[in-house]
This record gives sequence, structure tokens and C-alpha cells, in this order.
Amino acid sequence: MTIFPDMVEAFKKYGVIARAIAEGKIAVQVFNLRDFTTDKHRVVDDYPFGGGPGMVMKAEPFFRFYNFYRNNFGSPYVILTSPQGEIFDNKKAIEISKKGEVVILCGRYEGIDERVMDIVDEEISIGDYVLTGGELAAMVIVDAVSRFVPGVVDRESVKNDSFMDDLLDHPVYTRPREIGGKMVPEVLLTGNHEKIDVWRRKESLKKTILRRPDLFIKKQSFDKIDKFAIMELVRELMKNAE
Ligand code: SAM
Repeated sequence: MTIFPDMVEAFKKYGVIARAIAEGKIAVQVFNLRDFTTDKHRVVDDYPFGGGPGMVMKAEPFFRFYNFYRNNFGSPYVILTSPQGEIFDNKKAIEISKKGEVVILCGRYEGIDERVMDIVDEEISIGDYVLTGGELAAMVIVDAVSRFVPGVVDRESVKNDSFMDDLLDHPVYTRPREIGGKMVPEVLLTGNHEKIDVWRRKESLKKTILRRPDLFIKKQSFDKIDKFAIMELVRELMKNAE
């Protein structure tokens, strides 16, 4: 739900999201808040009670939209984009991907009349900064959540992505094998998948420990590949120290 539907419609036309929509794996419907106003000028904002700068989004168009949605599509899970919400992360994306019908409300101006909270299940922030509107946040949420909807992306690729299992992803390479003396790591050319898995996990562990120790500290379980990778990492460190 936005006052700038074209902005979000554009997002639907590209890449994985466009394909997922075409294949019916997800459906993204963009609603214009102005369609839920009743006045001639389709006004969605008004001055704040108590004074102060900026405008506030009126509550009634949101309530009208909510009733329209419930009457036509059933009861949705309602998310309000807000810098005051819970910070969005991978865990939250997985959680939302299981909700089914989700409505995302995009604020503008100084924010939305507080009474709209009556229809909101959850406020989500995409980071500790203030955007001029909720559209970018809504697109971030739809994009990240869609990746966890079955069939949208290859399950294997999601499994190894950054933040899964509290690790950052390993480095990747493609052709050519050599660019100005910079070679692709030899192990990736061996065709030995066990060795490649261990090397990739070692690089993931290394990157995570160096860049995101907070993630590494959170990591709960270490499987067999993790253990081999840690042994490799220690060997590598010892060799470099010699
Ligand atoms: N006055 C509000 C405050 O300080 O909490 C900020 C309003 S902001 C200019 C306008 C709209 O942008 C918000 O209603 C929200 O929908 C969206 N927005 C801004 N920052 C955001 C963030 N970090 N995450 C999600 N949505 C955000």
C-alpha cells in the first residue's frame, strides 16, 4: 500500500522477482492509497495535531483499504514499514515467508496517524536510518522474503547464502581462470567436491570471523564440514606462520 505505486510496479519487472511472479510462485499486488480516499482531491495527508513540521498520513484511507482487502482477499498479516520497528534480518524474512497473505504499508511524510496501529501486526525497520518513504523498505522485504518461498530460487543456493547457519558466503569465481596474473584457487578446478566443500566452508568461516565475529559467536552447531574446515584453517595459519 503506497502513494507511489509506479515505484513498486517497476520492481516487479526485473530478475528473480519478475520470474517468480510469471511462474505464479509469488503474487505482488500494488495498491494506491489515493484509491481509498473519498474527497475530490484524493488527499492522504493532513497537518499534525499539536503543530510541528511536516504532514501526517491520514488514518481513514488505511482503514478503508484494510476493510476492502479483508472483504476481497481474506485476513492478511499487516506489516508497517517504520524506522521504529524491529530490524529486518534473514530470520525475520524466513518467518514472513511462512505467513501467506502479507500486506506492507508504506509511510511517507512525518509518518502515519498512530491509530493505524490497530490494524498493524508488526512494525519493521530495514536499518537505523530514516528513509523518505516506506517503498524501498517494502521492496527490500518482498525481495528477501521471496527468496524463501519454495521454488523462487534454488534451495541449494539459499542454503549457502550469507547469514544461513550464521556464516557469510564463500568467495566465488568464474571464467577466465587467470586475469592479469590473478588465479582462481586451484582447488576449485580439481572437480573434487568434498575438497571444494571444505575449502568453501573454510573461506566462509574465515570471512565471518574476520568481518562479522558477532555472527560467528551466535553460531550454534558445527557439522562435519565445519570441523574439517576449521582443521584446514588452523593448518593454513600454521603454514603461513612458518
Ligand atoms: N518521523 C518518522 C520517525 O522518525 O520515526 C520517520 C518518517 S519517514 C520520513 C517516512 C516513512 O518512511 C515512514 O513512515 C516509513 O514508512 C518509512 N521509513 C523510513 N525509514 C525507514 C526504515 N529505516 N525502515 C523502514 N521504513 C522506513
